[in-house]
Amino acid sequence: MSDSFKSVAAMLADLRPVDPVYCVYPHVYRAAAEEFLTGFPGRVLYAIKANNEPKVLQALFHAGIQHVDCASLQEIREVRAISHDAQCYFMNPVRLRGAARTAQQEFGVRHFVVDHADGLKLLLGEIDPLQAVIFVRLAVHHKSARVDLSSKFGASAEETLTLLQAVADAGAEPALAFNVGSHVMSPDAYVHAINTAITVLERLPFKLRLIDIGGGYAKPYPGFAAPPMADYFAAIVEAARFSLLDNGELMAEPGRALAAPGLSAVVEVLLRKGNRLYLNDGLYGVFWELRYHAHDRYPARAWRGAEPMTGETQAFQLLGPTCDSDDKLPGLVDLPADIAIGDYIEFGSIGAYSLGGRSDFNGFYSNTVVNITDPLSLPPG
Ligand SMILES: *Cc1c(COP(=O)(O)O)cnc(C)c1O
Repeated sequence: MSDSFKSVAAMLADLRPVDPVYCVYPHVYRAAAEEFLTGFPGRVLYAIKANNEPKVLQALFHAGIQHVDCASLQEIREVRAISHDAQCYFMNPVRLRGAARTAQQEFGVRHFVVDHADGLKLLLGEIDPLQAVIFVRLAVHHKSARVDLSSKFGASAEETLTLLQAVADAGAEPALAFNVGSHVMSPDAYVHAINTAITVLERLPFKLRLIDIGGGYAKPYPGFAAPPMADYFAAIVEAARFSLLDNGELMAEPGRALAAPGLSAVVEVLLRKGNRLYLNDGLYGVFWELRYHAHDRYPARAWRGAEPMTGETQAFQLLGPTCDSDDKLPGLVDLPADIAIGDYIEFGSIGAYSLGGRSDFNGFYSNTVVNITDPLSLPPG
């Protein structure tokens, strides 16, 4: 089977797929990467947990992404399988035993993170500190983050200062990291976190070179507004008055902002009962992030055969194919009123936290991923 089509229409005409098909639009990923690389005042690390699909990684690397935020040895291997040049950062304070050693010795990883004295001890037992930059992760909280990433990881201000000193004493380069959250709806959250970090660093007797302000940049979904990326960048530039070493640099770890835009999921209508549509994908598949109720749907358009459907729309409830009654998508979606069995629905903006969480529960699982190559082809939304 070809894994590259000019358009979704061409893919549908050629495959008439029984399984869901996930469509990568490399030109859309290029635009998302360029926006971040130009707008963010520093080094951009792609947080690979948002989407580790090889075609997505390829698109982002081609678009100029060179650094990857990994949480496991497996993710580091996935990056290496695609690119020799992309630089991996092992940014998880909790790792499998031996993983940091292998990362440094076999993959040349230099950047690690800790948030606890015992974690630092474990890390120093595995790596050569003279070849390492060790970030201390500071806990920061802000109400505008829909998902608080500091409820699990992060040290207090006092612990952070102690750990930074301990990292320096061990001979590694100390650096600071924090993560505001995910779905961070307000650039103010970054300003608040940056100010917290500045206050902490004022009490440190030496300067740092690298400050990693993490990920979390929100993207819009239907019924879920998010500020333009430019607003985040402007707020960060304004707030980030760190006193760093001369070659100092800011870093960011966007996952969703890079991963979301360039992927769509094309699913088939298996059955219609009034305004209820049963699909061949659901909450155990590509739609799993909807379980967390931050946003409740994706932009959608319908296809009949290889033709986009037009005309009157109505709101539909969408249900997955498994036997679990909870396998229902939370939001109603407007679709053509005459949509029927065998029609397809393409969901856009579905690149973040979608492919990575699929399970084969009840025997439904698709791994058909194709590239859509015509730059004039765009996903819905
Ligand atoms: C998940 C995660 C990110 C990416 O978060 P997004 O909300 O997808 O931008 C970045 N850094 C760390 C440490 C994370 O755990």
